[in-house]
Amino acid sequence: MAAGLHDPISVIATKRDGGALSDDQIDWVIDAYTHGRVAPEQMSALLMAIVWRGMKGREIARWTQAMIDSGTRMDFASLRRGGHPLKTVDKHSTGGVGDKITLPLAPLVASFGVAVPQLSGRGLGHTGGTLDKLESIPGWRAQLSMTEMVAQLEDVGAVVCAASPDLAPADRLLYALRDVTGTVSSIPLIASSIMSKKIAEGTSALVLDVKVGAGAFLPELSAARDLAATMVELGERAGVSTSALLTDMDSPLGRAAGNAVEVAESLEVLAGGGPDDVVELTVALAREMLSLAGQPDVDPAAHLSNGKAMDAWRRMIAAQGGDPDAPLPRARHTELVTAEAGGYVSRVDARAVGDAAWRLGAGRSLPGESVQSEAGVLVHVAPGQHVAPGAPLFELHTQTPERFDGARAALAGAVEFTQTPPSLAASRVLERVRFGE
Ligand code: URA
Repeated sequence: MAAGLHDPISVIATKRDGGALSDDQIDWVIDAYTHGRVAPEQMSALLMAIVWRGMKGREIARWTQAMIDSGTRMDFASLRRGGHPLKTVDKHSTGGVGDKITLPLAPLVASFGVAVPQLSGRGLGHTGGTLDKLESIPGWRAQLSMTEMVAQLEDVGAVVCAASPDLAPADRLLYALRDVTGTVSSIPLIASSIMSKKIAEGTSALVLDVKVGAGAFLPELSAARDLAATMVELGERAGVSTSALLTDMDSPLGRAAGNAVEVAESLEVLAGGGPDDVVELTVALAREMLSLAGQPDVDPAAHLSNGKAMDAWRRMIAAQGGDPDAPLPRARHTELVTAEAGGYVSRVDARAVGDAAWRLGAGRSLPGESVQSEAGVLVHVAPGQHVAPGAPLFELHTQTPERFDGARAALAGAVEFTQTPPSLAASRVLERVRFGE
């Protein structure tokens, strides 16, 4: 059917009745919604029908392509260093509490001579945004022109900056609508949303960190596995070498959730220290990225201990106006949350810690709100640790002490105890998903 012959009601009815949308219908509805010819209430009805009825692989691929085609697709094929082409590889995380991995990971991978173009967003809700974290570094700026981005990739190798508004604009409109209509939780919609932006970004390889557990978008392992497989297939079919790691997000990652406090923890990792789980995940993702970029046998951990990753970090921060030597902002007000009972920590609820950091001012509830660089939570206990009554569990940081009560309420019951040592998973990395495996 010619594109001009579609109407919103028949597209909605097709999906409502369990049918598959044709390529034409998908191209038409995405284009018409982006240009204001389909009303938000009509798109909401279609999205809800998709949540209930799902989409076939062909529909998801077409929906993704239509969102890519709504804007410009970037191309880094002409990147050069010393006259040689530079490989590009990116990482995307589905979002977790204390997930600061991009900060040490991008310079670490760049220190092996690979270009890492990380176009990031700002946080909304309980998981923080990478740009918000980096903006706690004095002078650092997120907005770069395409020329600046290319120059930094060719010189330093790593860039973390704000995505241009012309990158998959249909997804930006749809995501805002999904956020207020209860239609975020759908594997086809999440997969197409993430992959439209990543494919449009122009990277030639991509590693996905798909979170599983209480602090994740999709807490169940089976749903996370389906999401990972769907995204890997979308990437590969669009010509981007893609793999995914399923990783545990039941407990917060590392010991810090917030903005400046997460930068400080990332610096510990870049200096060869830091919490074991953050180091483990950084190295695992770096290995996966370097493998896709043609360096399967290198040891990423070596560049954390010999200072090469730290050198790349300093250059990456300075290239974007940041002062890598400036002290990070510190909160004017801090308070401790202590244990009422004792025992072995069996679980620290990631979602509760994310909510507390958000209530302290580290995150926003509406797009465009400002965040406090200084706000966040330091987690003093980890699963497996033995804790005595009265021992510190959390340290709350904020500029606005009236927020402490809300954060304390969010953290009530966040630490679970057992009287015998709990059995713990050996690794944050649960599974790897590759195309066709
Ligand atoms: N992140 C995205 O970019 N899109 C989604 O739909 C969910 C998470």
